[in-house]
Amino acid sequence: MHKNFKGIEKTVFGRGAFAQLGDILNERRGDNDKFMVFVVDQYFKGKPLASQIPQKPGDVVMFIDVDKHEPTTEQIDAMRDDILAKNGLPAGIVGIGGGSIMDIAKAASLMFTNEGSSTLYQGLNLIKKPGIYHVGVPTISGTGAEVSMTAVLTGPVKKLGLKCEWTVFNQVVLDPDLIASVPRDWWFYTGMDTYIHCVESENGIYNNVYSHAFAEQSMKLCEDVYLNEGSGQTPENDEKLMVASLMGGLSLTYSEVGVCHALSYGLSKILGTRHCYANCLAFNHLHDYYPQGVADFKKMLKKHNITLPQGLAKEWSDETITKMAEVSYNLPHMWNHAIGLDWKDKITLDTIKELFKRL
Ligand code: NAD
Ligand code: ZN
Repeated sequence: MHKNFKGIEKTVFGRGAFAQLGDILNERRGDNDKFMVFVVDQYFKGKPLASQIPQKPGDVVMFIDVDKHEPTTEQIDAMRDDILAKNGLPAGIVGIGGGSIMDIAKAASLMFTNEGSSTLYQGLNLIKKPGIYHVGVPTISGTGAEVSMTAVLTGPVKKLGLKCEWTVFNQVVLDPDLIASVPRDWWFYTGMDTYIHCVESENGIYNNVYSHAFAEQSMKLCEDVYLNEGSGQTPENDEKLMVASLMGGLSLTYSEVGVCHALSYGLSKILGTRHCYANCLAFNHLHDYYPQGVADFKKMLKKHNITLPQGLAKEWSDETITKMAEVSYNLPHMWNHAIGLDWKDKITLDTIKELFKRL
């Protein structure tokens, strides 16, 4: 079976594109109870961008601190219940921020129209009705959350996405000026998530001409941003990174991620390490799986004076390492892709534990 996915309905790209958001929303303001909800990364509170939000009377603007915790089912349910009770059913919801805010906007869009707790819908195609109109405005690039069909939520039992066609944004506004203020270390880690998406997408059995075309272009852009002459946080490179993130996301959607993401999920789940940083920690030691990708990654680290901690595993008990390895082992789609359908003959829990011990 070949993958058959819905894409973003509309995309605007270009520096200053954020100024078009007001006109874009006007077309949809007549829907439902005729107001918009803006969920905005707390970072922008009091910054010039906050005063440019095309807010109208009756709209709801919420600034959210994404550093306290990753998006939770409880947070989405409470937000939905509160807005429905006080304001009614929004015409649409706009997320302005990074992967965390993208996921909040996507998840809330679905939960406005699907009854009960979001914990009921964590998984593939469990959502019953389309959500409300939702718009993504990324302000940090790399995770590909702006294009993916999942909204990752942490619940009491599982950390799993609301994954279905309706999760995909109706509209994305890509304004590279918005990522200019990202601190250098996050610019690096988050951008490397894109680079790793491409390396992993390319190296495995699900790679195909369609996913390869996106990965090839995305990697070329990443190399300009992080490796080639002229690399660094410049307006031109911000344009490239924003497009690379989207294309990297498309590449993995039509292929798969691999060993690095499998390990990274273990780190995030057991130790709470953030996705992009966890990927960097793991990828640094995967030279035997991705020789070229890891060699270039090391060059990029050096070029931008990023030092990753070493000897982390020395601090971890065997129990912790085992738990992380179990999380990784239980991602068969990633191992299928990276190693082959007979991966269980080649990869055991102990193999994965040894990989974690490299860290
Ligand atoms: P993030 O949204 O967690 O933000 C990281 C930090 O950058 C925060 O401190 C934020 O305030 C700050 N920030 C954002 N934009 C900024 C700007 N323009 N200037 C200065 N600071 C800025 O970052 P992320 O790495 O994009 O997202 C991580 C989240 O994405 C995780 O919750 C993860 O689960 C999720 N994720 C989702 C998908 C998906 O497909 N849905 C994929 C990967 C990761
Ligand atoms: Zn990733």
